[in-house]
Amino acid sequence: MAESFLFEEDCCDIILAEDGEDKVVDILEAMRNDSVSTAFSGIEACGTSMNMMRAAFCKRLGIPFEPLAVTFQIEWNRECVAELLPECKAHNTCLFNNIASFFVEDLKETIDYLIQHPQMAIEVLSPLLAEKKAMKGTAWCVVHEKECKVVPCRRHLAGTSCRPWSKKGAGLGAHDPEVLFTLAWVGLMLLLENTEITSENVLTPGSGSSSSTVMDCGLGSLLLRLLGPLYHMEKVVLSPYMVGDPFNREREFIKMVHKKKAAAVISPLSRFCKRFFRMCQWSWKSIFFMHLPEMKGKGVVENELEMEYQWACQRPTSRAKELGDELAGDTMDFEAALNTMEFNFLQEYRRGWPEAAYQLNQDPGSGHGHHSKNEFEMFTLIHNLGLVWSDHVGRWLSPTEALACQHFPVVPYLHSPDLKLTSFHFDRQGRSGRHIGPQVGNSMHCGVMGLLQLHSLSEVLHPRIPDLFKNIRLVRPGWMALSVTGW
Ligand SMILES: [Zn+2]
Repeated sequence: MAESFLFEEDCCDIILAEDGEDKVVDILEAMRNDSVSTAFSGIEACGTSMNMMRAAFCKRLGIPFEPLAVTFQIEWNRECVAELLPECKAHNTCLFNNIASFFVEDLKETIDYLIQHPQMAIEVLSPLLAEKKAMKGTAWCVVHEKECKVVPCRRHLAGTSCRPWSKKGAGLGAHDPEVLFTLAWVGLMLLLENTEITSENVLTPGSGSSSSTVMDCGLGSLLLRLLGPLYHMEKVVLSPYMVGDPFNREREFIKMVHKKKAAAVISPLSRFCKRFFRMCQWSWKSIFFMHLPEMKGKGVVENELEMEYQWACQRPTSRAKELGDELAGDTMDFEAALNTMEFNFLQEYRRGWPEAAYQLNQDPGSGHGHHSKNEFEMFTLIHNLGLVWSDHVGRWLSPTEALACQHFPVVPYLHSPDLKLTSFHFDRQGRSGRHIGPQVGNSMHCGVMGLLQLHSLSEVLHPRIPDLFKNIRLVRPGWMALSVTGW
């Protein structure tokens, strides 16, 4: 497992070996000139993964590391906003919690109507969005507590609302009210014209993972229609198992590069990614590490195993209530803390799939059960994560471990909180396992996100500003002085 977290350093080594040191210096230069904004990105896998990549490259070249300051973030989930706030304040990042507030005031009534009749939203709003008349560039920012302005960035990353196009979500497509948030996002993208946009979503029905063309269905049709005139688009399907992690999470990424603002793309994303794919050589079982004595008190939540156990026992439906005195003193019996439903599902899972990992809030008998297929493949973690159980430790996944499944740099002894790579390295009141579960289930995988962003830094060239223009401010006073004294 520890080796899995060397992914970023491996990427650096591969580039050093294949392209030489000059290329690595170019990438560091691109990191220095980088600017990033994000939307719908939950607990900020984008920024976290970029920090991990920056830290690895700086370490390899022996230069001091500086974390990425994201320009602005848009995230609607209240718990995620609370989680992100301390980091945003430290980096002066704007944080907007309602993307719909970017619609112009005149449209308010129309938007309220369209939320009731979402099937009409695309047709009604598209012409306005295309003319840049639907969006304003300002909204209420929770960091600065005032109306703040959004600005164009080199890169924008978004986990666009997946519910309308998700098989497990409502799958209503353009008939889902959430399509309005997607349209608001597209509107902002048209307004800002960032140089690059990366959109993450569930697999589009009918789209093969091998093709790199954006499909004319699902979210793809919307992006092609509205952003297609401005951007070159490429689609790639990536999953943590491709970068050597025993977790499945296939997602479709659409990378859009501005036709005028970017100078060139050296290599397409689909080909670039393959250079860094790794075999999975470790079992998901080693992600259960928080019970080891040396880990005590080192998780993202204070004494997290005790907290998890106490929370579970205190539930009115917990079996601990019935078992009462049978529970032996100080040792924590996690099985006894389950409720009857979870306990029954666990028995059923054990009979069908011994030694696997199980998701205890899903009924294995109904065909909706989630269990690992083998030691090298755990199921996709979802928002409704519940308790993910493994018999080899006799308990469920703890908050720190769940974050580590998504390659968050929170493993004690491997990642120092002093580096401030992620919001979980900042103190936050009220952080708890109950919030972290759904946050992890919705998050993107930091290894996959790092790879996507490395492509931008390495393969997307930006037009260089001639040095004369860059230095004009510096040169001018000297020139003025000369012209006064007579040249
Ligand atoms: Zn602000």
